[in-house]
Amino acid sequence: MIIPAKSSGNAPSRTCPAIAIHQVSHFFGSNPVLNHVNLTVPKGTILALLGPSGCGKSTLLKMLAGLLNPASGEIRFDGEIVASGSFSLPPEKRNLGMAFQDYALWPHMSVRQNVAFPLQMRGIKGQAQEEKVMAALERVGLADFVSRRPSELSGGQQQRVALARAIVAEPRILLFDEPLSNLDRDLRESLCEEMAVLLRQLGTTAVYVTHDQHEAHALAHHIARMDKGAIASIDTIDPSVISPFVA
Ligand code: ADP
Ligand code: MG
Repeated sequence: MIIPAKSSGNAPSRTCPAIAIHQVSHFFGSNPVLNHVNLTVPKGTILALLGPSGCGKSTLLKMLAGLLNPASGEIRFDGEIVASGSFSLPPEKRNLGMAFQDYALWPHMSVRQNVAFPLQMRGIKGQAQEEKVMAALERVGLADFVSRRPSELSGGQQQRVALARAIVAEPRILLFDEPLSNLDRDLRESLCEEMAVLLRQLGTTAVYVTHDQHEAHALAHHIARMDKGAIASIDTIDPSVISPFVA
């Protein structure tokens, strides 16, 4: 099924994909890193962005996050422009949850405080905050660890805390950059399976960057393969969902 990449004007539309990347290019100095990338992610689906080291995966994800602005092209969420060559909606206004390879937890804060951080930013406090924090920690099996500091947790537990922090505010889009690649193989496999179940339960649109084919197949509805700054192919793993398309 083909759906249009752009709605007319800037108004959100129910037929829009959750993410539409249109003709996005970027350079570091004179080095072209993204070359006219076109890609859509249908609402509620998980897209794995797979490709060798250095092909531009993290750069593209940073553009979705608002941490880098494309030199040219545009990015829309639900039909609304969030980035173009001349405009960039700040990360905190994009309603995102993110988790990265290095967890990026605040070392001086407890698990509770780390997970509560996105809620604090959105002005959600008190009992409502506590309930959401506990619900997110229960989802990742860490409800008994609320008072610990990150340094008192294993790598796998720290990544679960990062996952709880990513989902706690029920963002419209989840972004992951190789979140399991610092873990040993057995843990990576089990956490990957748990994440696949969790992400499907949540039904949130997600982009999952990895260089690991098995992870991509275990987690995603669709796999976009990147090579040298361009989308080389898109495969559908789960045919029950709408397919992405190259705009
Ligand atoms: P991937 O995530 O697929 O491994 P990246 O998006 O991190 O790839 O990087 C793509 C290319 O851009 C690589 O050649 C990398 O060296 C280069 N690069 C990434 N970030 C920067 C930067 N801040 N300054 C200069 N070059 C960069
Ligand atoms: Mg990377």
